[in-house]
Amino acid sequence: MKEKQRYIGRFAPSPSGPLHFGSLIAALGSYLQAKRQAGQWLVRIEDLDPPREMAGAADHILRTLDDYGLHWDGGIMYQSQRHDAYQAQIDAWLQSTQAYACECSRKQIQQAGGFYPGTCREKQLAVEGQAIRLKQTEPVTSFIDVRYGNMEIPEALAHEDFIIRRRDGLYAYNLAVVLDDIEQGVTEVVRGADLIEPTGRQIGLYRMLAKPEVSYLHLPLAVTSQGYKLSKQNRAPAITADQAVPTLKAAMGILGLPVHDLQLLPDDRDSLLQWAVKEWHPDLLPNEQSVVEPF
Ligand SMILES: [Zn+2]
Repeated sequence: MKEKQRYIGRFAPSPSGPLHFGSLIAALGSYLQAKRQAGQWLVRIEDLDPPREMAGAADHILRTLDDYGLHWDGGIMYQSQRHDAYQAQIDAWLQSTQAYACECSRKQIQQAGGFYPGTCREKQLAVEGQAIRLKQTEPVTSFIDVRYGNMEIPEALAHEDFIIRRRDGLYAYNLAVVLDDIEQGVTEVVRGADLIEPTGRQIGLYRMLAKPEVSYLHLPLAVTSQGYKLSKQNRAPAITADQAVPTLKAAMGILGLPVHDLQLLPDDRDSLLQWAVKEWHPDLLPNEQSVVEPF
């Protein structure tokens, strides 16, 4: 009998600020899904975009995860140390003409209707100082989410030759994420519902790379009472170590765990997490985005 592949999940925050309640939900959801299946839970720091990062944020995020009892398996991967791998793949695609240099400005693309129409595909421009785009030969217009079922991706988005390295030399998110997940042996991606649209491109990348695809579970987003997603951009406050148990309980509630009878829940952090691992199932997730006040 063939041995079942071991579950490997991950949490991959970008260090643009300290861990906030919205990202705690993604951390906890991916942790529970991995631990429920006796799998590994990895952490990767997505420090791909230095101008948007905050000094000390990566260490602060890791310390907070530890304070909340969310202990990761193995070492931490940093995207800032993965540039050679990203560049090697881009070079291979340039060589095979799967990728090409593009000189179009954002304004030109807007004038063409907002999606890139492949203007530079056959121009054979020199790479220096230009953005690099990938020829979209594996457009993905839908995928199956573990909890939410069939998810549709807009056609124009699915067919676009997207950027894999920006004009300023920064590597693009979709390429880095897929190469890293492959490198780390990730079998399932659990993350916030704000990342549903890029999923199509990422599945397409697995197909172009001829690598086994992963499964996807998108968690509801924590939003403010005004309907804004809780994020570093709208200054969601950092969560604090001394409030670990009540904050974990609040996050568990968003994920649909039966936390309404607080009296019955352990007040000890590690017992609380053990209870949640035992109770957890993706079917508990609510049908809609959850609404919460920011802390
Ligand atoms: Zn172009």
